Amino acid sequence: MKKGSLVVISGFSGVGKGTIMRQLIQDDTYQLSVSATTRNPREGEVNGKDYYFTSVSDFQKLIENDELIEWAEYVGNYYGTPKKYVFDQMEQGKDVLLEIEQVGALEVKKKFPETVMIYIIPPSAKALKERLMKRGSETKEEICKRLIQAKKEADFVRAYDYVVVNDDLEQAVQDVKDLIRMSHFRSSLFTEDMMEFKEEIQNL
Ligand code: 5GP
Repeated sequence: MKKGSLVVISGFSGVGKGTIMRQLIQDDTYQLSVSATTRNPREGEVNGKDYYFTSVSDFQKLIENDELIEWAEYVGNYYGTPKKYVFDQMEQGKDVLLEIEQVGALEVKKKFPETVMIYIIPPSAKALKERLMKRGSETKEEICKRLIQAKKEADFVRAYDYVVVNDDLEQAVQDVKDLIRMSHFRSSLFTEDMMEFKEEIQNL
């Protein structure tokens, strides 16, 4: 069985990453990694499903014990990706999706250059602000912080391999699926097959 791909999906807060993720994982070839975070749960969020909600001291222990692939601070809270689950799932052939912010994303790419890096952008800045306000889960002050953060992040979009515009949801989901599918054809995945092929040629 071939190993699955590691896929990083980032995007400005409110761009609709969560919705895209939920659509993707309807298909069980994709597995979503569950991050640890020190931020408080939003209404309806479930511990162990949306995030592992942890205290700052427990988060620090995860870092000390080298249990995270990456971690970063984002508008005042810590977020990190637990290592073991991600690697186990990839070994089982699943494409593992990390929905993480840019600092952590670039860290993952540095450690694992074959990571498929996808950035989701909104059709316009106005649409982004409207979506954040409609979501209603953040205070006005938090929305403001997230928009300022989006402005900062815009410069780094080019560090990603691919950009997908989330204008039409179905189309955006299909675009992400297509990009992940492409990664299954990387030559590095065929190293063992090619060794066998060389041997077979010799024995012809
Ligand atoms: P939110 O508070 O809206 O759930 O997430 C805030 C930001 O943190 C989002 O950009 C999200 O993608 C990012 N994030 C979630 N989990 C992780 C993680 O494990 N590591 C990093 N670096 N960022 C994360």
